[in-house]
Amino acid sequence: MNERILIIEDNKALSKIITKKMQKNLGFEIIQAYSYSQAKEIINENDDFFIALCDLNLPDAPNGEIVDFVISKGLRVIVLTGSIDEDLREVMLKKDIVDYVYKGNIEDVNYIFSLIKRLSKNRDIKVLAVDDSLVLRNELKRLLQSQMFKVLMAAHGEEALSYLETQDDIKLVLTDFNMPVIDGVELTKEIRQKYNKNEMIIIAMTGNENHAVSAKFLKIGANDFINKPFSKEELVCRINNALDAKEQLEKMQDMANKDFMTKLYNRRYFFEEIKSFYKQNAPFAIAMLDIDYFKKVNDTYGHDVGDSVIISLANLLKQNTKGSDIVARFGGEEFCVALRNVDKKQAIGFFAKLRKIISDSTLKIAGKNIKFTVSIGVAFSDRKKIEKLLKVADDALYNAKKSGRNRVEIA
Ligand code: GH3
Ligand code: MG
Ligand code: MG
Repeated sequence: MNERILIIEDNKALSKIITKKMQKNLGFEIIQAYSYSQAKEIINENDDFFIALCDLNLPDAPNGEIVDFVISKGLRVIVLTGSIDEDLREVMLKKDIVDYVYKGNIEDVNYIFSLIKRLSKNRDIKVLAVDDSLVLRNELKRLLQSQMFKVLMAAHGEEALSYLETQDDIKLVLTDFNMPVIDGVELTKEIRQKYNKNEMIIIAMTGNENHAVSAKFLKIGANDFINKPFSKEELVCRINNALDAKEQLEKMQDMANKDFMTKLYNRRYFFEEIKSFYKQNAPFAIAMLDIDYFKKVNDTYGHDVGDSVIISLANLLKQNTKGSDIVARFGGEEFCVALRNVDKKQAIGFFAKLRKIISDSTLKIAGKNIKFTVSIGVAFSDRKKIEKLLKVADDALYNAKKSGRNRVEIA
């Protein structure tokens, strides 16, 4: 079942616009309520919602009463308002809400949409916040959790470093400047020895008494800074901007380095990735792999089915290799697999098994059961340059084809 979002909004036209956009682009199930009482009924029956959008002015609750009710049910709330009353805004922002959004035009609907998209991604992002003040730590923790991040808190630089050592999925560090022993600047320097700006986002929290400190942070590689005391809204915006920029860059990198159809690395990027194999000084193996009689697959079932076969094979190769190995699509129905840290015997065993897995599998595509085989040519690392090694593997593949296909040949 899809996750659900509850929209409590008496303006049916607006509710419909938001619903349509969310359903089309986010894959959430949207439940609409037009009044406090209706929302209450829905929530009491089933309170399993990703988030609730709450209009402050409902026919039976004109002063934002819905917000406290929904929060009391343990749900996250985005407040929708048509009022520009600053006092009301202050009151609402003090509550445990995710965001406070004006609803006026289509831009606002777009904002709500991107906010929900952001929150749903945030659930997979681990943030480490470092501050020696317990009060601020508690505040930060609440704030980050309201944005659905996985949150780790550290009271000083050493503790932060020990977390970074043991947990490799931290993506963003929020650090105070003044801390005993290792301060924020030292911590940033340490992190930058290991991770670049895109691998680990660092946002520094600086006191506004000294602008030189913010500049220093930026110079040593912080992605951004924020002056204390800051508003919850500003910090959330800075975090979101940094994450958006990171994702944008990753998208561009993927476009440059990956094959669009299979999402595997392309030939060009393979040559980048393989460099780490040579640095490691451990034996490795590479194999060229080509689908047998693929023209016949296209001729029999059509080009679209042919595409699906290529995608299925790509997935099979991914599933059967480790994250530290490389699987790349070199062209058409030709792939290259590089296995890290294997001796000859292990590599031969692996590719023999892989060949069998492929020939044993039956793909169900467009109502048809499709079987296919591959030929594999394997070469072993022997200090030869990668171009040479690929040529050796290619020759072995040629031999596999010549000797009848559906075979593994070792160079
Ligand atoms: P062999 O066993 O010798 O490898 O025979 P083959 O039929 O696979 O021969 P060959 O490698 O020469 O032909 C590959 C065919 O794959 C030719 C081309 O039309 C088709 N092809 C290449 N790229 C794609 C693709 O992205 N999608 C589809 N559907 N077909 C592709
Ligand atoms: Mg082929
Ligand atoms: Mg081919």
